[in-house]
Amino acid sequence: MVITCPKCRHENVAATGQAMEACPQCGVIYARAALAQHQQRQVESVRARVAAAVPDGNAPGFVERFGWYLTIAGALYGSVMLISTWVLAESAPQQAAGAGLAAAAVVVPYCLARALQQLFRK
Ligand SMILES: [Zn+2]
Repeated sequence: MVITCPKCRHENVAATGQAMEACPQCGVIYARAALAQHQQRQVESVRARVAAAVPDGNAPGFVERFGWYLTIAGALYGSVMLISTWVLAESAPQQAAGAGLAAAAVVVPYCLARALQQLFRK
């Protein structure tokens, strides 16, 4: 009988069909290689079903990304505000107000982004 090796694809024209028969080319035992391939197909099938159940994984949606872009913009603005306060403020109240605005410029969009993330997660 002819057996094609599941591992190296060698065609064994002198195969006997015995249970523990090995490939003369690569030495793999046909039954074991076939079982390993079967198990691999089962694993791939489960992975495919899991991937189908969660279509786009954990990727953020449009609304969620909008929130994070706002946070980045706020962080950049807050950084400029903090540096300009540091350079230009002439009194403690001005420093406090500038630092507060800089912090708010980052914290408010961040809180919005987190809220959008929680609301729009699938
Ligand atoms: Zn082989």
